[in-house]
Amino acid sequence: AKARGKNNFQFFTEDINQSVLRKSKLAIDLRKGLEHEEFFIHYQPQIDLKTERLVGLEALVRWNHPEWGTISPAEFIPIAEDTGSIVQLGEYVLRQACLQNKAWQRAGLPKFRVAVNISSHQFSQSNLTETVHAALIDSGLEPRYLELELTESIIQSSSTAIATMNELKTMGIYLSIDDFGTGYSSLRYLKLFPIDTLKIDQYFIRNIITDLKDAALVATIIRMANDLQLNVIAEGVETAEQFQFLKQKQCNQAQGYYFNRPLPPTEIERLYRPAQSS
Ligand code: C2E
Ligand code: CA
Ligand code: CA
Ligand code: CA
Repeated sequence: AKARGKNNFQFFTEDINQSVLRKSKLAIDLRKGLEHEEFFIHYQPQIDLKTERLVGLEALVRWNHPEWGTISPAEFIPIAEDTGSIVQLGEYVLRQACLQNKAWQRAGLPKFRVAVNISSHQFSQSNLTETVHAALIDSGLEPRYLELELTESIIQSSSTAIATMNELKTMGIYLSIDDFGTGYSSLRYLKLFPIDTLKIDQYFIRNIITDLKDAALVATIIRMANDLQLNVIAEGVETAEQFQFLKQKQCNQAQGYYFNRPLPPTEIERLYRPAQSS
């Protein structure tokens, strides 16, 4: 048996063993979870800052693990990326989000875009455009009600990125750059890529009220986006002060706990279903 607590190093290696074990179990469980439909989606409202109306919903996947309960995508998405499960999981989210948005339109909710996160592995798959096309056809959702969120790392890792993006644009889908400012060569991408929207990462938003540097950076990104005629959306907005700051700097849209957390579909319906006339 192991002598426990002999020194810190031993605790440390036990922690690592624990996390390695957890990761490899999650990697296996991911595949089973897809078969057993353990994944579900929450939707987070994206708000127009001028009108304060809903313009979009970001689809964020959740996992109800049979033993451990709800697990954060921040933990399982990187594992799904490493093991390749992300392709199947990503297609599931894309299809669900399209079906759900079309169902909401049929139910008479106001029309808004649904934004789906695309991982680099998915983006470099040669058949991404076919997959997206099939999801639209099968759901009946018009392309202009779908937005794909791409990160800067995606774009770097694919030699055919521009061609793929152009194909998606030709189909009529919206494209946004997610986590803007956290990757490399952002300005080059803005010149080269056919994108509609720039999402400012919450890392920059968090301290805009107290940190002059963050305030200056965010104001500059917004002005640049406006000059380039790109839509700009701030992520992670948590307070009224942040909301006012962004509005004053002419940011178009915002998303964050100040407005809504990511919500289950039933909550979205409760919030946005038209008033019954009877
Ligand atoms: P992300 O795409 O940057 O999504 C935004 C994250 O910020 C979400 O975390 C959201 O719940 C959280 N958030 C929203 N508003 C606030 C706020 O006001 N304050 C704070 N502190 N956080 C806020 P979540 O849902 O845990 O997702 C984490 C990441 O997992 C996402 O980051 C995205 O990179 C990834 N992810 C989630 N769903 C999918 C998916 O279907 N496909 C792929 N490829 N990645 C996904
Ligand atoms: Ca996102
Ligand atoms: Ca983001
Ligand atoms: Ca992020």
